This record gives sequence, C-alpha cells and structure tokens, in this order.
Amino acid sequence: MRVYNFSAGPAQLPLPVLERAASELTDWSGSGMSVLEVSHRGKDFVACAADAEATLRRVMGVPEDYRVLFLQGGATAQFAGIPLNLTAPGDTVAYLNTGQWSAKAVEQARAYDLDVVVVADEAASSYTTTPEEGSFSVPQDARYLHYTPNETIGGVEFGYVPDAGDVALVADASSTILSRPLDVSRYGLIYAGAQKNMGPSGLCVVIVREDLLGRARTTTPVVLDYTRMSAADSMLNTPPTFAVYLLGLIAHWLEDNGGLEAMGERNRAKAELLYGAVDASDFYTNPVQERSRSWMNVPFTLADPALDADFLLGAQAAGLTNLKGHRSVGGMRASIYNAMPIEGVQALVDYMTDFEATRA
Ligand SMILES: *Cc1c(COP(=O)(O)O)cnc(C)c1O
Repeated sequence: MRVYNFSAGPAQLPLPVLERAASELTDWSGSGMSVLEVSHRGKDFVACAADAEATLRRVMGVPEDYRVLFLQGGATAQFAGIPLNLTAPGDTVAYLNTGQWSAKAVEQARAYDLDVVVVADEAASSYTTTPEEGSFSVPQDARYLHYTPNETIGGVEFGYVPDAGDVALVADASSTILSRPLDVSRYGLIYAGAQKNMGPSGLCVVIVREDLLGRARTTTPVVLDYTRMSAADSMLNTPPTFAVYLLGLIAHWLEDNGGLEAMGERNRAKAELLYGAVDASDFYTNPVQERSRSWMNVPFTLADPALDADFLLGAQAAGLTNLKGHRSVGGMRASIYNAMPIEGVQALVDYMTDFEATRA
C-alpha cells in the first residue's frame, strides 16, 4: 500500500520509476547483475550515465557551453565547492539570505577568506519573505551572487530571477529544480541535491557555465574540483551509480509526461489547491508573504497547536505521511514535489477540511 508522502526530503518518488527500478534490480540490461553491482567504468554504466546526462540536458534545455556534473556530498558539499572553484582568497562574493539553507551557504563561504557581502537579509521577517525585486544591489566586483530560489524549510520562494548585472548568478535549486521551466542561460551555476525532485540523496547535480571554470584553488579536494569531475566522461572516483541511474529514470519520466512545461502547470494547480484551502479557513494559516509562497513546500499551522498531534495521527491513518513541520517552524509542512499527484493534495485538503469540521 503506497501512502501520500509529504516529506521534504528524501521525498516521494514517481511510482513508475520505482516499479521500473524494482523490475530491473536483479538483472539490469541483460547483465545478470543489478546496476548496483556493475563496474562504473563498464560500457553499460558509462552509457547509463551518459543517457542520464543527455536526458537531463534535454528536459532542462541546458545550453552547450554548460557542464553537467554528478557529484557527491549532497548540496551541502557545494556550499564549499562553490567558493573553492570560483574564488581566490580576498575576493568578494555576494549572498541573498532568505532562510536556513542560504544562511548555511553564507556560513560556509566565510571559512574561505572571502569578503562575504549579504546584500539582502530576510532573517528579521523570520524568513517569511523574499526581497522585493530591485531592492538590493550587487557589488559588481563580486565573483558571484548566490541565492536559494526555494527555501525548503520556510516555504519561501523567489517569484523572479534576481538581476545580478554582470555578476555570475549561482542558485541552490535543491527544492525547486525540475518543478517548472527554467532559463539556464541566466545562471552561472545551478546546483541541487537530488533527494527533493530528482532522485536519491547523496547525489548533487551541478550545472556550470564553462567560462567560470579553471579558477579552482590549489587546495580544492579533487572530488570537489569541477574541472576534474564530470557526469559521464571522466569518472575520477566511483560515482553514486544507483543514484545516477535513478536520476536518468526520473528524467525520462519527466520527458514522457510533457516535460517541465506540463510539470509546471501541474505544480501550479497543486499549490493553488492547497493554499486555497489554507486561505479559505480560519483554522489553518500559512505564515509566508503571498508573493513569496513556495509551490513545493507549504508550511501551515493550526489555530490550536494542542491539536497538532491529533492532526498528525489522523493524517497518518488516512495514508498522509510526514506532515510534521520542521522543528524550527513548528506546525505542519506539506512538501508537494513533482512526484506528488494532485490526488494526493486533494486527499490532504479533504482531510484538513474534515479535521477542521470535526475537531476545531
Ligand atoms: C535539502 C537542501 C539542502 C541540503 O541538501 P543535502 O543533500 O542534505 O546536503 C540544501 N539546500 C536546499 C535548498 C535544500 O532543500
């Protein structure tokens, strides 16, 4: 029995992808072995990684002059990987701070002898807003402007792509990548941990414009050096093979289901359904400023927090799992990534309506 899993990550995966992986697990592509057991340098796996990269490139429309890298250490490793690859000691770098993930990225950058300029900081709003478009200016000598398009914990999302002028824009897209079309050419670097919308945890996809490469500090560990690592054609060490295989299956699933355009429409409809239910009720509240509401992570509180535990118990019984909010925000959080069908959101809305009617 499959539940509707609202976890923020690792998150629900598309059922057809899981079924395909299950069916191939003991004998993958006629090898008599699972994909977990084959050499990462064998031709079957090399072709699998190349196909995962090519499919992801097609789905996202990644231009030719960008490299796609499959790295390890999750998105968190890139909080260090980015300064190590793109800066020299003493350089200026700019960050937008809109939540706990961007704050972690800032903190890590401070370890690398940089002038870290936080050009907008939403901490004072308890991370319930994004800066108004055009309200901040980016030092034009900065090596990059880093931001988090979707803050997974706060449920706060930018409704626009920040204008960094001539400065390279760097995005931690962990919880929004593949959720709708995105113009890769506006970015210098996009990175994302896979476990929200792309596959298993541990894998991090980095999409980087080639002209930014070649500046890695000599102290950069090779596994974080973008010029030494790649998706498919030069495997410096053993890549997370199963995660790469699954990412490929997910990219094909997206392609077979109308690509990012169709996914964006489905995600918009899901978010509208859930926010509509929250807004129509005096019992449920979403703390985020309206224009900054996330399509992917929807935190909400109950008017009476004493009912939280009952709400969660009833939800679990109804097959709706992992709705407990992040410990720093409290209340509930429903993460409704690509793999969550609208039927799952409708089931949640029905449960919320019912709970309010009988318990509030
Ligand atoms: C989950 C998440 C991370 C951390 O990813 P790990 O793979 O656990 O390192 C970083 N940034 C954002 C926006 C996230 O949602």
